[in-house]
Amino acid sequence: MELKFPFLADRQLESAATELLRRPEDLKDHHCHAKGCTAKVPPERLMCFRHWRMVPQDLQNEVYRHYRRGQCYDLQVTGEYLQAAKRAVQAVEHAESRR
Ligand SMILES: [Zn+2]
Repeated sequence: MELKFPFLADRQLESAATELLRRPEDLKDHHCHAKGCTAKVPPERLMCFRHWRMVPQDLQNEVYRHYRRGQCYDLQVTGEYLQAAKRAVQAVEHAESRR
């Protein structure tokens, strides 16, 4: 793993950050964070519309609340955002597994 997040003390969060943000070059070719989805989305969007719709409303609000404009470019995201984003990804995974 190349990417380090010294501002995140928590190991678990660091792995979440690495997973969610991937490499900086991915910003040019950013895609949906739902597992296995290759839909291209703007870097400021966590997921494509199809998957985002599967995220419960309260979790969507949580992601928005901790989102900071420009975070995709400087990679200075908060632990709260990562946690919310991770939960959103897991919610989609869970919803898809029930089909
Ligand atoms: Zn998707």
